[in-house]
Amino acid sequence: MKAKFICYHLRNTGKICGKGSTRPEGCRSHFKAKKRQPCSACSRPTKIDKPIGVDNDLCSNCNKSNYQIRHVNMLRDKAQMFDQYSEEISFQG
Ligand SMILES: [Zn+2]
Ligand SMILES: [Zn+2]
Repeated sequence: MKAKFICYHLRNTGKICGKGSTRPEGCRSHFKAKKRQPCSACSRPTKIDKPIGVDNDLCSNCNKSNYQIRHVNMLRDKAQMFDQYSEEISFQG
């Protein structure tokens, strides 16, 4: 495979990737970067393929707070279930 193009993907360091590439979109690891859309909250580029259960326009960074809220809710639900369960047990006793 001959590299006809140079990847112009801008890295976090502010420099371009510079890798040889067979496609104009960029090197193997960066040609998919074009398929990103800006986050609706912080406008950073975010992946379009999201983990299951996430269907918003937020980047993974902005979604982190959502995950934490969901996790706390889940723990609270579990605690409530356990409370109900132990109440039933004590009721039978
Ligand atoms: Zn690249
Ligand atoms: Zn964001």
